[in-house]
Amino acid sequence: MKHENLTLALTIAGFDGSAGAGLLADVKAMEFFGVYGQAVCTALTVQNENEFVSPNWVAVEQIEKQLEVLAKVRDFKAVKIGLVENAFVLRKIIRKIRELFPRAFLVWDPIVASSSGFAFFKSQEEADELLSILPELDLVTPNQNEFNFLGIGVSASRDELNVGKDFSLLLKGGHGSGEESVDILFYKGENGEDKCILIDFEYAAMQCPAADIAYFCVFSDLNESEVDAIIKKYFEDEYRAHIYDKKCPAGACQKLKTIVIDEELCKGCSKCARNCPVNAIKGEIKKPYKIDQSLCIKCGACLSSCPFKAIKEV
Ligand code: SF4
Ligand code: SF4
Repeated sequence: MKHENLTLALTIAGFDGSAGAGLLADVKAMEFFGVYGQAVCTALTVQNENEFVSPNWVAVEQIEKQLEVLAKVRDFKAVKIGLVENAFVLRKIIRKIRELFPRAFLVWDPIVASSSGFAFFKSQEEADELLSILPELDLVTPNQNEFNFLGIGVSASRDELNVGKDFSLLLKGGHGSGEESVDILFYKGENGEDKCILIDFEYAAMQCPAADIAYFCVFSDLNESEVDAIIKKYFEDEYRAHIYDKKCPAGACQKLKTIVIDEELCKGCSKCARNCPVNAIKGEIKKPYKIDQSLCIKCGACLSSCPFKAIKEV
C-alpha cells in the first residue's frame, strides 16, 4: 500500500521489544485504523511481557533531532507522545512539535509505570510539574492510576486547571476491574461549554448529546466506584439504552437509528433502492420494498428519496 495516500500520524514513545506498548504497539494500532505511523524514540527500554529491566532514556537533543529530520519530509497533523523521562523533556518535545508541526493535534498518553510495575515517576513534585504542562496539550489520556497520580482531580493547582477548556481529557477505563470498560471524555463544546461523553469499547463511540454533563466531576478524587456513581446519577438510563438496547432515547445518535419502510405506504416504485449506496433495499416493482438491516449503513439517503414518505427512522 502506498503510504503517500494514507493519513499520517507520529508517535513519540519508548521502544518496547515485546511490542505490548510504545512505538511498536502504536504503529500497529495506527496500521489497524488505516493510518501510516512514523515514530520517534524516547527510550530504548529493556523489557519483556513480565519484566522491566531499564528505560535507557534517549537524550532530549537526540529526540529533537529525530523530529527535525522527519519534519523535512512530513507535516504531521496528529502526534501522540507516550513515555518521557521527565517534565523537562515533555515540555521540550511539546515546544518542538509546536514549532515543526504547528497544525498538529497533540495527545499525551501519560505513562507513570510499566505494565510489569516499574515506576517512571514517583514524587509529588514530578506530578505537579507534569500537571502544569497539561494546558499545552490538546488531549491527555490517563488511565485511573495515572489520573490519580497526576492529581488532576485533587491537586492544589486544580483551580487553574480548566479541564475540557484548556485541554481535553480522556479518562480511560481499560485498567478498571469491572466487566465493562468505559472511558470518559471531557472536552469543550462548539459553543465553549464544558461537555462530557462516555465511550464504551463495545459501542465504540457513544457520542450522545443526551449524555452531556458538566465537567465538575473531574474536580473530585475520582475512583472507579465514583465514576460508576456519576454514570448512574446523570445518565444511567441513556447509557444502558445505548449499550444494551442499542437505542438512543433522545433520538440523537444517528448510528442507533433504524431505517424502515412502511409497507402500507410503499408503492414499490424502487426509487429508494436506486438511491441506496450499499444495495440494502430490495424488492419487486409494485410490491412493498424492504431494507436489509445487516447491510444498511444508516446514511439516510433513502429517507428523502421516497415520493410517498414511506421511509422512516425509528
Ligand atoms: S439509510 Fe442508506 S444504507 Fe440504509 S437503506 Fe437507506 S440508503 Fe440504504
Ligand atoms: S421509494 Fe418509497 S414507495 Fe418507492 S419503493 Fe422505496 S419506499 Fe417504496
